Amino acid sequence: MTTQNNRSNSEGSFICKVCGALVMPEGAGSQHRNHCPKCLSSVHMDNAPGDRASLCSGVMEPIGVWVRKNGEWAIIHRCRLCGTLSSNRIAADDNPALLMSIAVKPLAAPPFPLGRLEQDLNNSLKPQEAYPHEQIKEN
Ligand SMILES: [Zn+2]
Ligand SMILES: [Zn+2]
Repeated sequence: MTTQNNRSNSEGSFICKVCGALVMPEGAGSQHRNHCPKCLSSVHMDNAPGDRASLCSGVMEPIGVWVRKNGEWAIIHRCRLCGTLSSNRIAADDNPALLMSIAVKPLAAPPFPLGRLEQDLNNSLKPQEAYPHEQIKEN
């Protein structure tokens, strides 16, 4: 059982469990590297950020991107084994194409017909007709 200690081998470098890339701590910027820059996957190791206290060690898949108050992007990871969600800052060398594809995924597969969206947009240009079912009375 030596694979468990990949992280401590050489100053925090590790082999990505998902894509096999050798992940070096350099290039991430000053922050701690907690996910693979190539496939953006992570491993469930923490209960609280950085504590390495979780015994799960499931693969954390990148399922979404959100923007923090300061405009910084963060990745939402979900554990394949236990479903835990966590949010992680992106690193300087994270795969930008993959980040974008995760970010636009909900837009590429909307849960409603796009024609309806167009209708809603048109309606919002005419406020009094935006919610016809509420029967707003005009003076
Ligand atoms: Zn990877
Ligand atoms: Zn887990």
